Amino acid sequence: MRLDVVTIFPGYLDPLNVSLVGKARARGQLDVHVHDLREWTYDRHNTVDDTPYGGGPGMVMKTEPWGDALDSVLADGYEGGAGRPALIVPTPSGRPFTQGLAVELSERPWLIFTPARYEGIDRRVVDEYAARIPVYEVSIGDYVLAGGEAAVLVVTEAVARLLPGVLGNAESHRDDSFAPGAMASLLEGPVYTKPPAWRGRGIPEVLLSGHHGKIARWRRDEALRRTTASRPDLIERCEPAAFDKKDREM
Ligand code: SAM
Repeated sequence: MRLDVVTIFPGYLDPLNVSLVGKARARGQLDVHVHDLREWTYDRHNTVDDTPYGGGPGMVMKTEPWGDALDSVLADGYEGGAGRPALIVPTPSGRPFTQGLAVELSERPWLIFTPARYEGIDRRVVDEYAARIPVYEVSIGDYVLAGGEAAVLVVTEAVARLLPGVLGNAESHRDDSFAPGAMASLLEGPVYTKPPAWRGRGIPEVLLSGHHGKIARWRRDEALRRTTASRPDLIERCEPAAFDKKDREM
């Protein structure tokens, strides 16, 4: 997968060199390109923002640097055979970023991120590229960050761990919270490792039983309990058929 990020703070994306994403890059599973938006400014002050039409506080990012940057990134990727691109626009007014959307994005060959600053990017930029390629306007939560770079890191990590061969054990995201399938999009329950006793706290007996059926049932019960307590909205959204008889007794 190819990833391009256009930003006025390229250094903010340095974490893409470490841990899971860094290793995926080193193995050639991710081809990451971080670009400084100011390379596409032609005035003495490398201006990327201007006052908003209609007045009001704050500044708005200008069309020209974004348009030139995106045209250049698109030309480079097409030339390199990156496949069909999608533009990922982080914004608090976008659709919520979910595990389902992470799965959808992980199936695309090439993502181009446009993290903004100030009051965001002149709307015409999104409209221009939406006429040419798929555009996802994505929010990582109901709060306002100073810029979209942290959102890029969030989306990239969630997507990268779904790519084939990136996680050591391909099974490890199967039972994650929100994962579709046996756990019916529930939150994952508690997890434990050695030692079996710590500061007087033991672990649930069933996990030592070696009985796969009972362990699976316990995990499902805990997932249901945790989801009911912290995210009842997820339970309400589940199809009734997702629950078995034992679930309904809880
Ligand atoms: N005035 C904008 C509003 O109220 O929607 C907020 C602009 S914010 C200060 C600057 C940039 O940070 C946004 O354009 C976006 O790129 C990014 N950003 C802030 N909060 C975000 C969120 N919850 N999800 C994704 N991106 C976010």
